[in-house]
Amino acid sequence: MRSYDAVVVGLGGMGSAVLAHLASRGKRVVGLEQFGPAHALGSSHGGSRIIRQAYFEHPSYVRLLLRAYELWGDLEQRAGERLMLRTGGLMAGDPDCQVVSGALRSAREHNLAHKLLEASDIRRRFPVLRPLQHEVALYEEPAGVLFPEACVLAHLRWAVEAGAEARFGTHVRSWWETGRGVEVELTGGERIESEHLVIAAGAWLGKAAGDLGLPLRIERNVLHWFEPLAHREDFATDRFPVYILQREGVPMFYGFPDLPGQGIKAAFHHSQEYTDAEHLVRTVAAEEVAALKRALAGWAPDAAGRHLHSKVCMYTMTPDEHFVIGRHPKHAHVVLAGGFSGHGFKFCAVVGEIVADFVIDGASRHPIDLFAADRFVS
Ligand SMILES: Cc1cc2nc3c(=O)[nH]c(=O)nc-3n(C[C@H](O)[C@H](O)[C@H](O)COP(=O)(O)OP(=O)(O)OC[C@H]3O[C@@H](n4cnc5c(N)ncnc54)[C@H](O)[C@@H]3O)c2cc1C
Repeated sequence: MRSYDAVVVGLGGMGSAVLAHLASRGKRVVGLEQFGPAHALGSSHGGSRIIRQAYFEHPSYVRLLLRAYELWGDLEQRAGERLMLRTGGLMAGDPDCQVVSGALRSAREHNLAHKLLEASDIRRRFPVLRPLQHEVALYEEPAGVLFPEACVLAHLRWAVEAGAEARFGTHVRSWWETGRGVEVELTGGERIESEHLVIAAGAWLGKAAGDLGLPLRIERNVLHWFEPLAHREDFATDRFPVYILQREGVPMFYGFPDLPGQGIKAAFHHSQEYTDAEHLVRTVAAEEVAALKRALAGWAPDAAGRHLHSKVCMYTMTPDEHFVIGRHPKHAHVVLAGGFSGHGFKFCAVVGEIVADFVIDGASRHPIDLFAADRFVS
């Protein structure tokens, strides 16, 4: 039976980063992924992801984000390719809505450079946008776009260059603790033993984490791409920011500039349509496209042109929408990384570092009290 310092289950956004950080710190590691590299069947696909610093969800994410920016920069250097594009970002809506007030709180608590724009400022600076008279936006320069598939592949390349094994088309059926660590059984019967097990299984976490009963819900969410109707030049990446808009009477939605070869992408942030990874409906109804297009037309009318395509993806939601990162409450040799609740990709690089800390040092240097895995376990 083959033996390792650590086995990583799932090589999506998080697992690929964990594998790279463990291998680069000299650990004998193997990553096991049921699908192929950078596949489109989980939560880390769709051509682009927003990265930002003035974090409306909670100020305690900001220090992690500042470290993530450093680590994404290092990975870009190592990979010799662009993984991140700074476009600026708008957190927009009523002055007291969560998106604006939360971003402002984080920016002030962490002295992040930002501007608070009135509706007239927004229209002047971004002529294709139509904020309502009372809406404002926090603008931050470092916000932008990550290219998720390229990020996953860059972490995987780094991991393998550092000596890791990455096995695709390899499904982990079960695992159990032994006196020395864990034993993992693959579909097909092969067994692997290891001192540590990392479970970064995305929407499959509930199943993979065994007897934990984490209250996770899988939310189906859809990404849409459109061809602009007019003023395409004003949606270019050097003229148009990523944005999140929280507008009265419209589900929160977000969007991107016109990324070369992609068109203009936008999506609702929460569909509140719950499912599971095995029963996910991957086809998109015309009414879903129309609903998003209506919302988009009320904010950037020229963006809401011909529909190009749509893709389905999964959020793994925790009740408080904060992550689950840390030791499995019932198994000392197991570390969990999941429940990223639709906002985790920007953190992949630092989650890799945090989980490697846990495996190697037993705890992390980073502030992650918010993510304790036992906060849901009675
Ligand atoms: C539509 C959408 C938009 C988003 N937008 C943003 C954004 O703008 N900014 C942002 O920061 N975040 C965003 N997110 C969130 C972010 O993409 C996710 O938090 C992140 O991708 C989660 O990564 P993961 O590694 O946990 O999951 P995944 O990438 O899905 O990885 C889990 C992996 O585990 C594998 N696996 C599971 N079980 C097993 C098993 N038993 N054996 C072997 N392999 C297994 C799966 O095949 C999968 O590859 C968005 C998410 C979605 C769905």
